[in-house]
Amino acid sequence: MANHVGGFMEFDDNSHWILCACGAHLYRAAHSLDNMGACTVCDFVKSGASHNSPYGSSGFPFWIIIVVAVIIILIVLLVLFLKKKDKKAKKEPERKRTAEDK
Ligand SMILES: [Zn+2]
Ligand SMILES: [Zn+2]
Repeated sequence: MANHVGGFMEFDDNSHWILCACGAHLYRAAHSLDNMGACTVCDFVKSGASHNSPYGSSGFPFWIIIVVAVIIILIVLLVLFLKKKDKKAKKEPERKRTAEDK
């Protein structure tokens, strides 16, 4: 066998592997989850499990959370702005609500 050097353990949602210095994925295998939803081999924790990996899982896009948060804030601000504008623009007496039960 070629002399692969097992280095970092990497994982995704389905499997884990050892990343060789040459870039090869060694010993790729499916996670073996314990009853806590954590893999007994790597640091993978099934989402919704009670504990999280102390290490940021390799390659997790934290920036997506930030981008989503900013977008949500902008949408909320926009909605509030439009509501204010709407109140000023329309001085109608109360419109009758269409009573619709879900
Ligand atoms: Zn290698
Ligand atoms: Zn695993």
